[in-house]
Amino acid sequence: MDLYLDTLLNLPNVTVEICSQVEDCIYLQLKFLNSGISCPACSNYTDGLRQARPILIRDLPAFGKRVYLKIPHRQFYCSKCQRYRMERLEFVDWKQHHTYRYQEYIYQKIKAFIVQQIVQEEQLSFEEVKSIFDHLSKEKKKGTVN
Ligand SMILES: [Zn+2]
Repeated sequence: MDLYLDTLLNLPNVTVEICSQVEDCIYLQLKFLNSGISCPACSNYTDGLRQARPILIRDLPAFGKRVYLKIPHRQFYCSKCQRYRMERLEFVDWKQHHTYRYQEYIYQKIKAFIVQQIVQEEQLSFEEVKSIFDHLSKEKKKGTVN
């Protein structure tokens, strides 16, 4: 629909079909640019679309408003598996109804919020708390501390 809007949205294989606004929410109805997919189980290409149920997915906020994407959750028939397969998208967590980038945004907010709380409780600087956290998370990943 709108090339600028698609560029701003920056998600693969989709275009914004309808953009609407209701109070503090922006709704973007998306349309796929690809008519088929690789079967998530066997990688066989299929365009045997069986159904597409629109799902509301929360995405990153824009212009101080909440953003929801209306994305068709498509189901295809794979002739190789002889089964119906739900489409997987690299940017959507269908179960949680969020984009992965929205989840990352919330995760970063939680981290900043907790650090801020510890700054107040422990009378430390923001940098000190963050450096303790970053240092220990690195060590814990390496398995050198419990
Ligand atoms: Zn298959």
